[in-house]
Amino acid sequence: MAEFPTTARVVIIGGGVVGVSVLYHLALAGWTDCVLLEKNELTAGSTWHAAGNVPNFAGSWAVLNMQRYGAAMYRDLGDKVDYPMNYHVTGSIRLAHSKERMQEFEHVASMARAQGLGMEMNTVAELKDRYPFLETHDLTGGMWDPLDGDIDPAQLTQAMAKGARGLGAKILRFAPATGVRRENGEWVVETETGEIRCEKVVNAAGYYAQRVGEWFRPYGGRRVPAVVMSHQYFLTEEVEELKTWTEETGRKLPLLRDVDISYYLRQEKNGLNLGPYERNCKAHWVDPDDPMPDDFSFQLYPDDLDRLEFYIEDAMARVPLLGASGVGRVINGPIPYAPDGLPLIGPMPGVENAYEAHTFTFGIAQGGGAGKVAAEWIIHGETEWDMWDCDPRRFTTHADHAYTHAKALETYGHEYAMHFPHHEWPAGRGKKLSALHARLQAAGAVFGAYNGWERANWFAKPGDDVSEQSTQTWDRNGPWALRVKEEVEAVRDLCGMLPITGFSRIKVEGPGAKDFVDGLTVSLLPKPGRVSLAYFADSQGRVLTEMSVMVHSDEDVGLITAAVAQWHDSELLSRRAPEGVTVSDHTEEVECLLVTGPKAREILGTVTEGHDLTAPWLSVSLDGTVAGKPCALLRVSFAGELGWEIHAAPDDMPAIWDALAAAGVTPFGMYALDAMRIEKGYRTWKGDLSTEYSLLESGLDRFTRLDKPQDFPGKAALQHQQQQGVERLFAALIVEGAAQEPRSMSTIRKDGEAVGEVTSAAWGYRVDACIAHAVIRADLAVPGTLLDVEVFGQTCRATVQAPGPLWDPENARIRA
Ligand SMILES: Cc1cc2nc3c(=O)[nH]c(=O)nc-3n(C[C@H](O)[C@H](O)[C@H](O)COP(=O)(O)OP(=O)(O)OC[C@H]3O[C@@H](n4cnc5c(N)ncnc54)[C@H](O)[C@@H]3O)c2cc1C
Repeated sequence: MAEFPTTARVVIIGGGVVGVSVLYHLALAGWTDCVLLEKNELTAGSTWHAAGNVPNFAGSWAVLNMQRYGAAMYRDLGDKVDYPMNYHVTGSIRLAHSKERMQEFEHVASMARAQGLGMEMNTVAELKDRYPFLETHDLTGGMWDPLDGDIDPAQLTQAMAKGARGLGAKILRFAPATGVRRENGEWVVETETGEIRCEKVVNAAGYYAQRVGEWFRPYGGRRVPAVVMSHQYFLTEEVEELKTWTEETGRKLPLLRDVDISYYLRQEKNGLNLGPYERNCKAHWVDPDDPMPDDFSFQLYPDDLDRLEFYIEDAMARVPLLGASGVGRVINGPIPYAPDGLPLIGPMPGVENAYEAHTFTFGIAQGGGAGKVAAEWIIHGETEWDMWDCDPRRFTTHADHAYTHAKALETYGHEYAMHFPHHEWPAGRGKKLSALHARLQAAGAVFGAYNGWERANWFAKPGDDVSEQSTQTWDRNGPWALRVKEEVEAVRDLCGMLPITGFSRIKVEGPGAKDFVDGLTVSLLPKPGRVSLAYFADSQGRVLTEMSVMVHSDEDVGLITAAVAQWHDSELLSRRAPEGVTVSDHTEEVECLLVTGPKAREILGTVTEGHDLTAPWLSVSLDGTVAGKPCALLRVSFAGELGWEIHAAPDDMPAIWDALAAAGVTPFGMYALDAMRIEKGYRTWKGDLSTEYSLLESGLDRFTRLDKPQDFPGKAALQHQQQQGVERLFAALIVEGAAQEPRSMSTIRKDGEAVGEVTSAAWGYRVDACIAHAVIRADLAVPGTLLDVEVFGQTCRATVQAPGPLWDPENARIRA
């Protein structure tokens, strides 16, 4: 072993494809004083036995970005670092058995085109041309990705390792990290050979990430939400007919994925490689009597082909060639799963100067991009693309072992499933319940999970179809549509109530608390007794988040934010808080009930004492009761009607609910709220509000106070952008002619040219139109401009609307 380094800027724990890619990307960015520790040989974890498929296809814009970047990087890597690799860019076909699957492909193809990838929709005949051995009688069509392929995972890892070493980074093999500790603001990474003192540390330990993660628990860390699944593929013996075809054509078959059945099938030399994601899947090392071994390097689980029987038979019917030869070799290896099947890349929740890049189910395809993303987090604290889909902070306290296990089984067994907008996955439910849960159930609530909290999406009436099957559609209309319309109408004409369970609540307290928040936000803080929206930017002026703020005193600031933003937003504050200022989470202590509609004042007046219901919009009343229970009232309504949020102790909420229900207030759900917020132009976090766009591009000039004396993050960048003028701008569009709402990141065109994308969309029942929020070329953000939106393959006419709300543009109703 070369001389043991005792200091480094960054230490990476884990030498699989991902850890090595992080090291390589740090080195590419000039951070060469970095060390990677691998307990065995590079690739000893999941990497060595991976099938090596490198798809671009992804339903997530962030993952699509990562995979597109990775595949492009791999094409050049061999030449760049002088390490020739087996990388076969064969193209791939995905088969569709239904109209809904074709619609999914259409949407992804549209996103892919926007990222410069040439994915194409194919007819059955075109599929047959591309794949002559395919049985097509029961197919609807398919999709062609010319840049899909397969790579040798070990060569890929070694090539990046060579690149990293060549730039000066160090790799120590057979050097297990055995622990970490914090000393004088630095990390000390312990190994059997010695210790390395470093500024930053990265957990890239693959399926050992949970174990390595435990070392960080004393420093604020949490249990890593990952479960190890077994994934199998088998290789056939040589198939004579395939060999002949390959010799005659000089081609390899494209990779084939029958996603409705759930397997991939690709040519490996002159045989085939079949890898199913089976429903009856299996997790390992999840029980105390089946502990994870200390070392599983280069090992596999015993073959278990019985589990795959259904898939093997189906694949043999689809490509009869598969049955022409025997099974040669079976690979059954460990593959880590997070609850949603996406990796964890970014700051380690709760721990300073520690990062994560682990729990990859598709680490070969995503490793290249993940290295870039992780290096950006480490070097800049922010990333080029919005990476929330892979951010470790997206799982909070609900992601315990039971939840993660249940979700991992569900996600693995539905690896290629479609994620329909009105479908809620059933596993891991009921983790966090509102004090009103039983009442919501009694009222017919159909629930959805929001950061583990159960909220009512809509309220069914007896006889309504609430089956999972009914949600297997991209269409706007289903059994919920009429009920959502009725709920909106009740709010528009009378009064409705909605528990916004799990609203994240943060308190910033101590000397200088207000000044601290003021110095972080781009917005003006409200006076005591008022509530207002505050936006937070990164150094480039891009939107990090939006929170509601109340300043109770110079030493006491309360913030409320989206349920899913809980850890993201509290860390935004806590990681920067100066000495003496504390940031604490109070989410579970208070529950919120939104009461809204033109009759809200009249009805609330009958059950309220002490609160002034004539106080203007955006006022806060802290002292008073509803139904005799102490509560705060905030005069705000995300539905855009006269309304108040009642904030009370969970135990007091049932009495408040009962009193309001007795007074005639009817419940409404999240779908109705979404329909109403979009009519008001209110933005959603990580849909409309993301680090893909700056505050000014997001049309938030009103909240962006560049005249503030404080030098808040992003100020210089925003000032510069204001002087230059923005090239893209937020706009609301009315979209005509589609039975579906356009998905986020649907492409918008003008005369055929891509000019922007949808950021969120919903049907507005009060204006009776499909509304899309979008970011488009700034010169087109002119009311009346006609554009085209790609909605699941259909080109739909869209008209740019005037800035401001489409419903009640003067805000007269909300101010009434
Ligand atoms: C059968 C199978 C087929 C697959 N096929 C594909 C595919 O076709 N395409 C695709 O994209 N993905 C595929 N995958 C998934 C892919 O293998 C993984 O996502 C990927 O290898 C993960 O890489 P990693 O670097 O995160 O983890 P790993 O490769 O597991 O690397 C982690 C490393 O950390 C090391 N380590 C752990 N603890 C310590 C410690 N304390 N100190 C030092 N080092 C430590 C381990 O030894 C290991 O080498 C497949 C997986 C399986 C099981």
